Amino acid sequence: MLQQTRVETVVPYWERWLDLFPTVEALAQAEEAEVLKAWEGLGYYSRARNLHRGAAFVQESHGGRVPSTAESLRGVPGIGPYTSGAIASIAFGEAVPAVDGNVRRVFARLFDERAPSPRQLEVWGAELVDPDRPGDFNQAVMELGATVCTPRNPACARCPVAGACGAYANGTVAERPAPKKRTKVRVGAFVTRIERDEAGRVRMVRRGASLLQGMWSFPEAEVTLEEADRITVEAGPNYLGAVDHVYSHLRARYHVVRVDGELPEGLPLGEEPAWAEERWVEGDNVGELALSKAQQRVWEMAR
Ligand code: SF4
Repeated sequence: MLQQTRVETVVPYWERWLDLFPTVEALAQAEEAEVLKAWEGLGYYSRARNLHRGAAFVQESHGGRVPSTAESLRGVPGIGPYTSGAIASIAFGEAVPAVDGNVRRVFARLFDERAPSPRQLEVWGAELVDPDRPGDFNQAVMELGATVCTPRNPACARCPVAGACGAYANGTVAERPAPKKRTKVRVGAFVTRIERDEAGRVRMVRRGASLLQGMWSFPEAEVTLEEADRITVEAGPNYLGAVDHVYSHLRARYHVVRVDGELPEGLPLGEEPAWAEERWVEGDNVGELALSKAQQRVWEMAR
């Protein structure tokens, strides 16, 4: 929960999560929709799905007991090198490294290396980790990276390991590590349809294998930017407005259109993808489905 999210935001989620899923078994047996609903608002929903999958695996393969070594933890779906190292060292006292973004930066500077490979980072971590207090050691390096050896303007003058720091000695702190290439963010325009039947129910769809898999949304389809421009003008009073949302790789603008009334002919509404499930839902019940932040804002606007 804490990845990419602030502690203050997480605390109520964490408490609610433990009420809902107090054991590995409870989480393993929950419906995916329930798990996503409990995660709603935290974003990056693949983490919730991975937790759910991981719990099912631990229940089935380890009798509900979380494995205690980094190696066996890595067999659990959703657990990679960092997480396995963090759990094994902090929860079980195994002397293994846990290299996150902060630790990577500290090591790159300590060893004065521009772009250390993941393998190299693991080797340094394994050499340095304190065999008696591996969890404390790993957390101390993460904390050093978060509070002293920060990406910009690190506080070298008050750094406890400045005496051993290669980049500090060589005057290369500002260039270590070299910035990673940014992933390109695509711009996408979507038409989101608020469709109602005669009874006033709203058409909702559950997403298949794609962005936000398993979450519910209003039916939508991607259109070109030119088509989106046309929609804003030609949909007339059926055009309700736009909702912007930035994902890690996509800057999306959702143009929200009401389709219960008469729509002008020839509007470019795009082609809907195949959905995993469709349902007509009473307006008052839409909020009970697991909706992403963007879809919640679409619904606020539509109401
Ligand atoms: S001396 Fe500066 S660059 Fe080196 S570890 Fe400390 S804060 Fe980071």
